[in-house]
Amino acid sequence: TEDQFKKVISHAKEYGYIFGSSEIYDGLSAVYDYGQNGAELKKNIRDYWWKAMVQMHENIVGIDAAIFMHPTTWKASGHVDAFSDPLIDNKDSKKRYRADVLIEDYAEKLNIKAEKEIAKAAKRFGESFDREQYEATNPRVMGYREKQKSATARLAKYLDADDLAAVKALIEELEIGCPESGSKNWTDVRQFNLMFGTKLGASAETATDLFLRPETAQGIFVNFLNVQKTGRMKIPFGIAQTGKAFRNEIVARQFIFRMREFEQMEMQFFVRPGEEMKWYEHWKEERLNWHKSLGLGEENYRFHDHEKLAHYANAAADIEFNFPFGFKELEGIHSRTDFDLKAHEQYSGKKLQFFDPELGENYTPYVVETSIGLDRMFLAVFSSALQEEELENGTSRTVLKLPSVLAPVKAAILPLVKKDGLPEVALKIMDDLKYDFNIIYDEKDAVGRRYRRQDAAGTPFCVTVDHDTLDDDSVTIRHRDTMEQKRVAIKDLKEIIGSAVSF
Ligand code: ATP
Repeated sequence: TEDQFKKVISHAKEYGYIFGSSEIYDGLSAVYDYGQNGAELKKNIRDYWWKAMVQMHENIVGIDAAIFMHPTTWKASGHVDAFSDPLIDNKDSKKRYRADVLIEDYAEKLNIKAEKEIAKAAKRFGESFDREQYEATNPRVMGYREKQKSATARLAKYLDADDLAAVKALIEELEIGCPESGSKNWTDVRQFNLMFGTKLGASAETATDLFLRPETAQGIFVNFLNVQKTGRMKIPFGIAQTGKAFRNEIVARQFIFRMREFEQMEMQFFVRPGEEMKWYEHWKEERLNWHKSLGLGEENYRFHDHEKLAHYANAAADIEFNFPFGFKELEGIHSRTDFDLKAHEQYSGKKLQFFDPELGENYTPYVVETSIGLDRMFLAVFSSALQEEELENGTSRTVLKLPSVLAPVKAAILPLVKKDGLPEVALKIMDDLKYDFNIIYDEKDAVGRRYRRQDAAGTPFCVTVDHDTLDDDSVTIRHRDTMEQKRVAIKDLKEIIGSAVSF
């Protein structure tokens, strides 16, 4: 819900996860900075992905290509000609929108109206309410759904045909007004390229126009032969990388869900032509399993198979996640055919083929890619982890139940009091553990308040040093989720924490 989402955003700021970019200058829209905890969480997600994709697969290797690429790359990839969104301005408010999003929002509003109608009826009928039957027979609900379907179907058709005049006509026909003022005075719809341009070189005459890469994938395609030859890779094999990508998004909203500067984690898997569907199914399943392994709740994921395909794909699906604002794309799995390698071959004049010793022939490999936004994954993890819990004693607590493997700080070491030599012992424990884990020390406030602070920050373990510690070399370890406290020997801490947070 909206409230929950607001809580996520303010909690992310309060606990040093995410700040607006250059906030002292009132920020920059759709650009964000990761704070002291956010940077750790982000790194841990990236590592978790890298380990699963690169380290655990003998036939996948990782690279780190530059953000700047030769400008012809983006001609070949199709981004110069086709990487754009339909844009429309409102003449009165001078505000700019994505035409497709205006129509999608309109359709979503109808959906909400239908749901409200259903909820009202459910209340009225009580136990005997049959939702399916009501949806199929109530004329008002059916009317909303009909209109909703018709709007999205027509939008898809017009966009497919690149018929921008029809998109505008649809906005007018549906009487969609500017979201702020309601004004219906629209300009024509035009395509707006999402790539950021920049210049390389100092003098105006010799400078070259460059783009900031809008996806990391192309850095992999142009290095296909370099990696295949030097790594002596045999098909099927994959190349993975993580890194920044940039898109001049028109509708930049929903916090870090849609940013102008973001990070992707992509893997391109090169296969024999004709075997791509087998690998496409394989990677769909393997990627979903990766998500499930984090324990965020299996009900929070679903596949969305694309009917409408990008120019380079012969099959595509999204893994959608249940964000606070509903199910939305988290990751894409695409069967890209030989589109990219063939295009780069054509534009560069270099052969980008593989000699298959088993078949005794050369061919251009087909590609199945898995592409996930690191920031979106961050939002999925963070928003599902943030929970408000009622406790037995009637109070409540805010707890950030991050998977222990991803938590920024693995343990907080707390002396019960700030005297009697307890801080010294606590600091010594921290010194012993800090080679293996990210650990913090906290001696301020009553220990109960310190526990709450760590719960809210997402720290899985609190280790408390008390007076008994001085005699028996043991401490109390408390787990964030169960709040259970156990007495353990100091010498066992490394093993206990290690087994919970390693991957
Ligand atoms: P969307 O439809 O949400 O714009 P897309 O289909 O354009 O996404 P892809 O080009 O397939 O996305 O990129 C792969 C992944 O990169 C997406 O699944 C998403 O996780 C991430 N991503 C794409 N654009 C953004 C963005 N502006 N901000 C954050 N993450 C993004």
